[in-house]
Amino acid sequence: MGKTTPAVGLSVTGERLGRMHIVSLAGGIGGARFLRGLRATEPDSTITVIGNTGDDITLFGLRVCPDLDTVMYTLGNGIDEEQGWGRAKESHVVKEELAAYRMEPQWFGLGDRDFATHIVRSQMLAAGYPLSQITKALCTRWQPGVRLLPMSDDRCETHVVIEDEHGKRAVHFQEWWVRLRASVPAQSFALVGADTAKPAPGVLEAVEDADVVILPPSNPVVSIGTILQVPGIRDALTAKTVVGVSPIIGGAPVRGMADACLTAIGVETSAQAVLELYGSDLIDGWLVAEEDEGVALDGVRVVARPILMHDAEAAAGIARTALDLALELAR
Ligand code: GDP
Ligand code: CA
Repeated sequence: MGKTTPAVGLSVTGERLGRMHIVSLAGGIGGARFLRGLRATEPDSTITVIGNTGDDITLFGLRVCPDLDTVMYTLGNGIDEEQGWGRAKESHVVKEELAAYRMEPQWFGLGDRDFATHIVRSQMLAAGYPLSQITKALCTRWQPGVRLLPMSDDRCETHVVIEDEHGKRAVHFQEWWVRLRASVPAQSFALVGADTAKPAPGVLEAVEDADVVILPPSNPVVSIGTILQVPGIRDALTAKTVVGVSPIIGGAPVRGMADACLTAIGVETSAQAVLELYGSDLIDGWLVAEEDEGVALDGVRVVARPILMHDAEAAAGIARTALDLALELAR
């Protein structure tokens, strides 16, 4: 059941009245593709996206924000569609030149066009602008059609404790994810900086003002789970009607290695376990695949529907279902 008073976008009979304010959390690929569907199915509403910055990394002196950029490029029609991240029509001359200088790391692929984004961001950071304002500035070019906010302006990075031939140590999330392809088991995750991080300006206000909140099928541990660790965000969300889409279908992630993340925190890779991980204090509605129909948790309305985003139209249909469920629960 929704925990808020009826949404301002609803009449007493539950009919939708014009513009709504939807808040969504997002990681990278799963989040971005879902958001494209949400924007398509709800073009007249305001959508505020709280993006994960736990994956951010400094490379070659440049600040890289992979998840914010994936959302920005996907919604701004600049994404490499096949790969799901990085720029379309990309070249890699700078990467080759850096490799010729034996510059490390060579395992992180940054294309030439993408480099420009990181140069702009890094220059603005050096000039003293906060990430939220920089993201806004970058979005004036990309016009993503949503308001994209970083979860925090404070540096807050996911590190992974692993044990390999070099012993037990913590590595940056990207080193585990990209260089090691999550092949070395993670013993734990630490969000370095989380204790003192504050939500970025506008984040709590957006949640407060939201008619409904939608959690796309982003990674529940290192995307959504990370955003929820920024002090204040989870508490703000629990006061709202929140509907989530399961990133796990029939016991496996749709793409990526979310199973390695779930295993690391002792959670089974299933739509049921991810729902329990989020908890019924946060989640009011949960969209699962038809093969996961039996999923249930007290206080949560579970709906089983196709949730595979095989194209933009499918993503829009899934977003519509999630939104309609949220509006019904918010009544
Ligand atoms: P990342 O930051 O690029 O890893 O992307 P996200 O965290 O936003 O999303 C990754 C998650 O999206 C993975 O756990 C996938 O299982 C999930 N995912 C990807 N495509 C789909 C899809 O078509 N349907 C559903 N339900 N989940 C998906
Ligand atoms: Ca990510």
